[in-house]
Amino acid sequence: MCCRLRLDLRELRRKSGAFFGSREGTGSVSVVAINTTCRRVHISQKKRKNFTTKTCPVCRIAQDLLAGPGRKITDVQRNKNLQKRKAEIMFDIGIVGGGTAGMTAAIYGQRAGKRTVIIEGGNFGGQITSSPNVENYPGIASVSGSEFSMNLLDQAMKLGTETVVEKVTGIRDEGGIKVIETTGKEYPCRSVILATGVTHRHLGVPGEEKLTGAGVSYCATCDGAFFRGRDVAVIGGGSTALQDAEFLSNYCKKVYLVHRRDEFRGEESIVRRLREKENVEFVLSATVNEILGDTVVEGVSLNNKKTGEDFRLDVAGVFIAVGQIPQNEQFAETVKLDGAGFILASEDCMTSHPGIFAAGDCRTKEVRQLTTAAADGAVAALAACRYVAEH
Ligand SMILES: Cc1cc2nc3c(=O)[nH]c(=O)nc-3n(C[C@H](O)[C@H](O)[C@H](O)COP(=O)(O)OP(=O)(O)OC[C@H]3O[C@@H](n4cnc5c(N)ncnc54)[C@H](O)[C@@H]3O)c2cc1C
Repeated sequence: MCCRLRLDLRELRRKSGAFFGSREGTGSVSVVAINTTCRRVHISQKKRKNFTTKTCPVCRIAQDLLAGPGRKITDVQRNKNLQKRKAEIMFDIGIVGGGTAGMTAAIYGQRAGKRTVIIEGGNFGGQITSSPNVENYPGIASVSGSEFSMNLLDQAMKLGTETVVEKVTGIRDEGGIKVIETTGKEYPCRSVILATGVTHRHLGVPGEEKLTGAGVSYCATCDGAFFRGRDVAVIGGGSTALQDAEFLSNYCKKVYLVHRRDEFRGEESIVRRLREKENVEFVLSATVNEILGDTVVEGVSLNNKKTGEDFRLDVAGVFIAVGQIPQNEQFAETVKLDGAGFILASEDCMTSHPGIFAAGDCRTKEVRQLTTAAADGAVAALAACRYVAEH
């Protein structure tokens, strides 16, 4: 804590009579947080009349408050603060998420001479690391998901990309500077690419975790071809499950479409087409008890909700399509999301917030695959480079 900060605290205490607590402090009249980037004191909860805002646009809140009624920080002072903060900027491009989109963005950013950091909250590589075999990436006939990811990471790091393993908890804009917040640290950046991907909703039944990659899949487009000529079950009743069943019916001998209700939530036109297919059978009002098999999937145990009876389907693959969960809640105040929580951005990867871009599965799009994630990474990085050059 510097002298200036101690002075601020004393003065703030004298003027406001505020209780000084930590950022997480609760139950007090008002809570004050120490902003580790600008080293000033800021109000983080509005509980008192004078504390008008939660955010800290370049120290303005603390200084306005300290100045007391009628005395406002001057534009000159505000501009000086902004210049100081700009001098502290560390990265041209801050990338949130080290999956295919994020790592491709880093490769493009570094090759364009920009200082780039990837902040990854789990494992570098993202979703594809759990796939044993990828056969649809152009130019690579067959590769395991983990090898694919490690090659990407290696390429990005050899070009000079910096990497951090921390979960990002939010982003705030301080006069054009984007500050990426993690648990305990902050990374000021000139531009940001959000590449947080999705997670697939799980059924949470016995056998599911153990047999993922050994017959249990969350991506029919990716893994369907491995089940050519075999019997499979698709679990789910929305559009994705219907599309998956239709896609798999082109390869598989038999496709059971298992849904817990009597009616599907997905498009009626696909339901009609599926009814006409000889190798598709609807298994309605049924829930999954367990996915069966020791080392690979051998079947699925179901429960008929109407009769209460358990029964078994012998299948080699179980495709679970019960929803994708985007991980964007912590950015909801910074960029616009759609109703399902995906970041609103089109093919240009621009979000509602200037200088913040979205790439890969985390944004609104039709096709969520490695190729589209990599394409987004390239588009977003080049857009970020343009933004940095212009601001
Ligand atoms: C089992 C499986 C098999 C697949 N097989 C294929 C295939 O064969 N071919 C194909 O084209 N596609 C396949 N896919 C789809 C493909 O993996 C995705 O489309 C692709 O990974 C999307 O890349 P992404 O970078 O957008 O997101 P992700 O791969 O999901 O990466 C996002 C990263 O962001 C990180 N992250 C999220 N939130 C935060 C945060 N707050 N702070 C820091 N980090 C964060 C995550 O930990 C993750 O590492 C498969 C998917 C699965 C699940």
